Amino acid sequence: MSAAVCPADVVSESSMSALDRPRYSVVAPVYNEEALVAEFCRRTVAMLEALGEPFEVVLVNDGSRDRSPIIMRELHDADPRIKVLHFSKNFGHQLAITAGIDHARGDAVVVIDSDLQDPPEVIPELIAKWQEGYQVVYATRAERVGETWFKRTTASLFYRTIAQITNVDIPVDTGDFRLMDRKVVNALTSMREHHRFMRGLSAWVGFKQAGVPYKRDARKAGETKYPLRKMLRFALDGITSFSYLPLQLATYTGFVIAAIAFLFLTAVVVLRLVMPNTQDPAFFGQASTLVSVLFLGGVQLIFLGIIGEYLGRIYDEVKRRPLYIVSEAMGFDEQQ
Ligand code: UDP
Ligand code: MG
Repeated sequence: MSAAVCPADVVSESSMSALDRPRYSVVAPVYNEEALVAEFCRRTVAMLEALGEPFEVVLVNDGSRDRSPIIMRELHDADPRIKVLHFSKNFGHQLAITAGIDHARGDAVVVIDSDLQDPPEVIPELIAKWQEGYQVVYATRAERVGETWFKRTTASLFYRTIAQITNVDIPVDTGDFRLMDRKVVNALTSMREHHRFMRGLSAWVGFKQAGVPYKRDARKAGETKYPLRKMLRFALDGITSFSYLPLQLATYTGFVIAAIAFLFLTAVVVLRLVMPNTQDPAFFGQASTLVSVLFLGGVQLIFLGIIGEYLGRIYDEVKRRPLYIVSEAMGFDEQQ
């Protein structure tokens, strides 16, 4: 339980002035990653130190129930450049990233998974592109190691579908691993929608974007926190955030069914006129009535469900609840 985090935080770093603002911020969501978070920090800090500029690592504990909060506290105590936000419960990956970005102060902010699937050693390549003048540098999965055939196929299908049906250029095979310039981060922090599909939002804001291919490693330990149910929810968030197509499908389907019904009607009338005594069961039997009623009922329920998906999201927006609740922040100065 995250109750292991006690409020007696005795870190005595002086509050940071605007002068020692970090150049780079690395934001990583952490949910039950006790086996990996320390190793992640070690590799990330080593990589950042080699760059020779001030930096911060912002870990967001998304309501972990294992030992990760304790380990994160120790990491922060040992190195105040590692800052930690503890959520009051599990709010989800996308909101953990959001909180990290909201609190990051660097000129360039990198979002990366803490399970070491995204190697921190790729970050200097992202930075090099940023220095060339690109403001969003996303890392594209050229290769995925150690993931199931099912995960790779559904992910690939999802990225291609979303690229087809949205009017935003969301790059394919690209997760949340990316570098964003301060201007992009400011734009993102101004967008407070609840069902957040961050990789879509960071494409939507525009700016100069570039991709860097990388090899996505296998998870080093623990298991994926995205079971099928969560993956579907995530896919729905992505689609509903950036496309009305599912809603418009009702109209198109309606037209198609109406056209078929009209042809059918014409056929029935003609048949009646030509062969007044016909008893063809395909046209007049009970089965055909039942089939068409059930079919239409099914189609209507599906579209009601789709409308429900959008309506539920609108409801979440109008409630205007905070996106996340931080129960403890370690290492951030008062302004935040
Ligand atoms: N994560 C999180 N909250 C969640 C689920 C995941 O903060 O509710 C973090 C997790 O610790 C990891 C990252 O998000 O750093 C990606 O999750 P995961 O590796 O399980 O997803 P996958 O790589 O399998 O798609
Ligand atoms: Mg992972």
